[in-house]
Formats: sequence, C-alpha cells, structure tokens
Amino acid sequence: MKCSCLLVEVDNMAGDDDWSAEVVAIVRKYALQNAVEYNGAGQSGSVLGRILGERADLRNRAKDLKILVEREVSIVNKMVSEEGIEVARESLERTNPEALNRQKRSKRVGLKELPNAEKGKVVLRFAPNPNGPLTLGHARGVTINSEYADLYNGKVVLRFDDTDSKIKPPIKEAYKWIEEDYKWLTGKNPDVIIKASDRMGIYLKYAEKMLDDGFGYVCKCSAEVFKKLRDNKEECNCRSKKSKENLTDWELMNNGTFLEGEAVVRVKTSIDLPNPALRDWPALRIQHSSHPMVGDKYKVWPLLDFQSAIEDHEQGVTHIIRGKDLMDSTRKQTLLYSHFGWQYPETLYWGRVKIHEFGSFSTSGMRKDINDGIFTGWDDPRLPTLRALRRRGFDSGAMREFWIDLGLTQKDISVSLQTIEAFNSSKIDGNCERRAFVRNPELLKIKNLDGKKDFDNTISIKRHPMDLIKGKRVWDLNEKKVYVEEKDLKNKKIRLKDFADVKIIDSIIEIESYERADNRPIVHWLPISMAKKANLTIPDAREIITQKGMMEDFELSKGSILQLERVGYAIVESENDAEEVELLWLHG
Ligand SMILES: [Zn+2]
Repeated sequence: MKCSCLLVEVDNMAGDDDWSAEVVAIVRKYALQNAVEYNGAGQSGSVLGRILGERADLRNRAKDLKILVEREVSIVNKMVSEEGIEVARESLERTNPEALNRQKRSKRVGLKELPNAEKGKVVLRFAPNPNGPLTLGHARGVTINSEYADLYNGKVVLRFDDTDSKIKPPIKEAYKWIEEDYKWLTGKNPDVIIKASDRMGIYLKYAEKMLDDGFGYVCKCSAEVFKKLRDNKEECNCRSKKSKENLTDWELMNNGTFLEGEAVVRVKTSIDLPNPALRDWPALRIQHSSHPMVGDKYKVWPLLDFQSAIEDHEQGVTHIIRGKDLMDSTRKQTLLYSHFGWQYPETLYWGRVKIHEFGSFSTSGMRKDINDGIFTGWDDPRLPTLRALRRRGFDSGAMREFWIDLGLTQKDISVSLQTIEAFNSSKIDGNCERRAFVRNPELLKIKNLDGKKDFDNTISIKRHPMDLIKGKRVWDLNEKKVYVEEKDLKNKKIRLKDFADVKIIDSIIEIESYERADNRPIVHWLPISMAKKANLTIPDAREIITQKGMMEDFELSKGSILQLERVGYAIVESENDAEEVELLWLHG
C-alpha cells in the first residue's frame, strides 16, 4: 500500500499545477515572512498555519497545500542561505510590505457572545454516551462548552447519557475514560458530573406526573399503526384515555407485564403539527436488557429527548450547544417544557465537521474492531480517539485552539487532519529537540577526517535550530564511519548537515570542504558511535507502516517528542535502556 502519510520530501515537485497564481503568491509571501523572521530557517509547519489562518477556505486542501508550502519554504530558505537575508526582505518589501511588520498575532477574537448570558450564571453541558472514550469530534463539544464556561465564570455539567442499553450500550470503564479525556483536554475537571442511569427515579417521576396531568399517554399501538395514523394527522385510540387508565398501564410497563415494544409513553402535542416527527413524540419505552451500571432494576427507560430535557431543567442549564441536525430535539423539548411550565434554555447550533482522515470511524465500529483484534485498543495510533492522539504526542492546547478557531459556524465543514497538525506544530516546535533518524542506512567510511586544524573529531550540533532549547548534542567521529540514507546516496556530492561537503565514491566519503561551498543537497546522517537501532511506527489510514533505521542515541527518554531531521515529529515509546528505540509517528 502506498504511504499516504506526511513524509513529503522537500524536493517533491508535485501538485503545483492545481494552484492558482493567487494561492502561490500567498504561500510565497508567508514563506518569505517566516524566513525573514527566522533568518533563513523558515518552518513549513508555521507557514502552513499562517496561511490556513488567513484562508480558512484552503483547509480542506491542506494536504496538497503542504506540498506547495514545503517547496516554497525550501526555495526561500535556500535563497536566504545563498544570497542573504536582505534579498528576501527586499522581495517581500516589493510584493507585500505589510508582511514585514507582522506583530505577534493578536489574541484571537474568540467565540462569539452567548445570547442572554450573565456572568456567573451560565450553565452548559457536555453529554456523551459512555460507549467508548472521547474522540476528536467530541473534543469540539468539550472545548466549546468549557471555553464558554471560562468566559462567563460559569459551569460545565458532564452528563453521561447512558439510558440506551440495547443499540449503543455503555461500557463500564468508559465513564472514567471520558473524565480523564475531559481533564486532559481542558486541564481541569468538569464542575458537575452526573450519570443519567443514577437518576432514573427523577425521570420516571416526571413521566408519571405527565400521565397524571394528562399531557402524556401510554400508547399500545404498534410502531407501524401509529406512524400511519400520525402521518395522516389522526389520533390513536390510546390518546383519549383518562389519567387513571394511563397510570394503570404505566404500572404494567414498569412491573414487566408489558414486554419490549408493547407500549410507549408519548408526549401530547398538536396532532396536526406541520412536522410529523414532532406529533405525539415518544418519551419513554420498555427496555428489558440489563444495564451495566444498574442491572435489571428498571423496565422502562427514557428516550434521549425526554431524559436530556428533564436533566437540563434539573441542572439549571442556561445554554445548549448542539448540532443543527438536532433542531427537532429542540422543538420536541420546547413542547415538553411548555407542558411543565418551564423556560427552554438558549440554544446554539453548529454544522458538522468531518476530518477527512477519520471520516469512516464510529465509536460502535471501533469497539467492534477492537474486540475483533483489528485494532490493539482504544489508543491504537490509527484511531481518532483522544487517547490515541494523546499517545502520539498531540498537544491539548493546540487541539483546543483548532476548535475555537473553527467556532460555531452552522456550515458543514470538511477539514484535513493536517490543519490540526499545523496548529500542533506551532505549539510544540519550540519544545522539540532535533535528532537524526537515518532510514535504510548505508554505512560509509570517511577517508580524510584529519585535514582540519584543531579538530578533535567531535562536532557539536544545536538541540534546536533557533536555540529555543539551549545546548548542543556532541557527536564523536573517531570511528570514521557514518550512516546515510540509501536514497540520499543517489547524489554523489552531498553536504552532511552541520558538518561538511563530501564526495561519495563507492562506500567511501571524501571530505571536500567543511564550509558550504556550493548548492549540493544537505542530508542528515549519523556517526556509528551515536547510532542505535530504531523502528518508527506510522499509522496510515487503517494500516501500520514500520520504518527501520538508526537513531541518534543522545538523551533519548521515554515520552519525549522529538523532531527527526527531514522526517517529522515522533514520540519515544521505548524504555530508556531498551535495546531498540521505538518511535511513534506524530506528524510531519
Ligand atoms: Zn396508540
């Protein structure tokens, strides 16, 4: 299978034919700006981040755009290294003088204001089904709700909507997982945590009140019969029952006399409402399957629209943020609220966001595939769960910024994971030390190491190219043997990065100059004394690719995120004294 991951080579020229001159000009502008700011060491991740910040419409093409960005950054960096920084500055001055005066991006405008929100009184809720840990999609709900709570000194209720024990049954462990995921993403615990299954008594009490007060009834029609009547704006016979009769039927539902499917409780609405789905909608149904938290205690369970409506009232929720596909839920619940004489919370909607790479995953599907052994667990790096992304080294702050930046638009959006990766790069890059990882290594011998004055056969290399992390990595060349990637040996004249211009003859390296004397390609490499066997694991859609190579054995510690030179970011997963280094791919 072809690798669709992000190991894009700098010399990859593909993809530029598709871009308009305008886009190419924007890419060039930011590549120049970044190179000027960082003295010729422009970073494609940060350039891509700026472009996508200015042009949200390009986000769904981020993957292709990245190729163009890498190429432009490489061209501009090369120009600066050869002709000096002034040339880049002049070029930018001519085309986009304003870009020379970039201030640090002012703090984002942030989320739009909540309607009718009073500081200190806002209550929001995030209500997942605990049938698995949280995914990247859930991260939106956690982020937006917790962000609003912060803005208004309000509260977030984490509510487990776990009243479905048949189709998407809860997993006992998932409650804890979700609390952990929430805390990882926001840095704190939710203000209130409740489980719907703990609060069944409340829902059943309200259902009984509804029957007693005559705005609900027990309907014993089959689903087809009811639907047919409903679609014709006709009432079923159950609708005219007296409260007493409804309460007797209610008792029979609860004591197990009625079986699953034999009766439901409906909320009375107008039977001629324009939208058939709203007409006398079902609020509670019989469910005899055992529940992982409360066992067989209850025979009647609320449907989500009823449970959620009652609980929002109980918790004093002031603002609900939900998908626009749930507008019918709002309408149903508003009808219920008016029966009870309650005021419905302010409701805001967002459109769907599809992350290209993860479009085909659902929580139930992942659960099945994990049970079938297709994935190793919920933190399998191929999955869109927060545990998998956390394991790979994604930064929770970057993820929050991504969702806040997207905001509350009602448009359906499709974005590439690379947009999130761009946010992540700009967040983590300053904290990531560089290391060499040589894939498919070829061992070569240096012929003439002794030609340099006062050279003690060691070299010192920056931990971070811009010295954002102070200090040097020291490489010992005494053994005169080095590893270079096989594909880099296509060129017979190369520059070993941070060291020397060399000529390759068979397996022999001849040093031609320590200074950079011409434009030969710069490659990463590794002296044999610093090399340790390593495996880089790369998730690629539903596959796993492993690249073998030699890793720079310099202060490798489990859990640290490194930028592998010319490869990308990865996290060290092996123990510090392991014989082989295990690396897990983060992104390019
Ligand atoms: Zn009926």
